[in-house]
Amino acid sequence: MSKTIILGAGLAGLSAAYHIGYDQCKIFEKNSYAGGHIHTEFTNGFTFDEGPHVSFTKSKYVKELFAQNIDEAFLEYPVKTTNYYKGNWIPHPAQSNLHAVPEPLRTRCLENFLNSREAASHKDKVILNYADWLNAAFGEIFANEFSRKYTEKYWTTHPENLSTNWVGGRIFYPNIKEVSEGFLKPLSQETHYVTEIRYPKEGGYFSYARKWAKKANIHFESELKIISFMNREMVFANGLVKKYDQLISTIPLPILIKSSDAPSNIKEAADNLNCSSVLLVNVMADHPTQRTENWIYVYDEDKFSTRINCTELLSPFNAPINQTGIQVEVYFSFYKPLKNSIDEIKDAVINEIIEMGLLKGKEWIVEVQAKWVQWANIIFDHHREKNLEIIFNWLTSVGLKREADDLEHATNWENKFGKHDSLKGADLILSGRFAQWKYYWTDDCVLRGKWINESING
Ligand SMILES: Cc1cc2nc3c(=O)[nH]c(=O)nc-3n(C[C@H](O)[C@H](O)[C@H](O)COP(=O)(O)OP(=O)(O)OC[C@H]3O[C@@H](n4cnc5c(N)ncnc54)[C@H](O)[C@@H]3O)c2cc1C
Repeated sequence: MSKTIILGAGLAGLSAAYHIGYDQCKIFEKNSYAGGHIHTEFTNGFTFDEGPHVSFTKSKYVKELFAQNIDEAFLEYPVKTTNYYKGNWIPHPAQSNLHAVPEPLRTRCLENFLNSREAASHKDKVILNYADWLNAAFGEIFANEFSRKYTEKYWTTHPENLSTNWVGGRIFYPNIKEVSEGFLKPLSQETHYVTEIRYPKEGGYFSYARKWAKKANIHFESELKIISFMNREMVFANGLVKKYDQLISTIPLPILIKSSDAPSNIKEAADNLNCSSVLLVNVMADHPTQRTENWIYVYDEDKFSTRINCTELLSPFNAPINQTGIQVEVYFSFYKPLKNSIDEIKDAVINEIIEMGLLKGKEWIVEVQAKWVQWANIIFDHHREKNLEIIFNWLTSVGLKREADDLEHATNWENKFGKHDSLKGADLILSGRFAQWKYYWTDDCVLRGKWINESING
């Protein structure tokens, strides 16, 4: 039997190989290393992941697999997050911590929130987009001053441009009691959607997959350049030509389609899928961390910094003793193109973290590195489902089997494993965040590999 070919050695590709069997699969990866987005870099004694990565999975199966992969050497703790707003530190989520919002904005937010809930109780408002959702959830004053600005920084587009089906439990929808109490003092209970997190003690987040990467059959520096779905043949940048019978693609869907013999209307649909990119500014400083929270959301629209984490607060092994690794995320996309040079952004970010008190001054810097990450977050704009439908329908002519939930933003694994659409006989299978164009976390990528194996071999 010929081997299953997997494109990409990120977590989705590694999980597929682990579950199907290493000897049954060959992986082709463009980089000289495995891990994709969970790759970890080591520099000057600091450990930097590709953006802050923690495991908050509820899946017992994934928890156990990850723990096994690091011989149970993980740290587990409650997550601590905070928000920076014009010189104020507001506990997360800000909507239920109005006590820390400066006056007169604090009172205006509460009054407007109470009025909007009162009005909503008389009439059902139709929610057409994320802006409507935010206004209904928090009142327009809070939504405009906080959520809209953060959406434009993180999602890189206006909330009107986003759908709402991805929101789910990710954004805390407070009740009147919680907002009213949080107006007076901190709430007694944690309301972030992530509460307990696990992180490998040593070696960064990639430690969760390092054993898999060692055992998998990976051809590195093999970037797919051309794929003929008609002839089931691929050409790689290093000159390799490879036929396939069964292909699992974990590479970004737009790349797969644009490298292929798909007709122009399918390529056009792939062009219209939007994803953000993130510039990571990694600042190594010769002083201990100045905060205690695992990560910080920055609301100020005049700052590039969007989310910040101090790496040694994920694990003390992530930085030399008494030093801090400050990682700042800055987002761009088709909607918000990069207009400054990377050096300009680096300089601006350094000034911002000095202003926020995270870096004591430029003289404390050991080194600053910037890393551009092309594929970061799928943007759930109103075009997504329509374009996916066009692409997936066409891909069925070259071996893809449609799945009942393939347009959904996420996967309900309980449903999926319970009554799975069998992939038996599928020649083309998509797996992972950018291949399926879903809001996938690392646990989803692992579970997808398990589900694929059960669907093709079960
Ligand atoms: C900033 C940020 C923070 C995140 N934080 C968390 C978190 O805290 N917890 C969590 O669970 N998840 C988090 N995630 C999500 C998580 O990183 C992803 O869900 C997961 O890593 C995606 O894995 P993947 O295998 O689907 O894709 P990828 O990791 O992108 O893997 C795809 C692979 O394909 C390769 N490839 C691409 N093009 C080609 C080509 N042409 N030829 C050959 N190979 C190619 C790539 O090099 C890569 O190795 C975060 C994501 C981001 C961006």
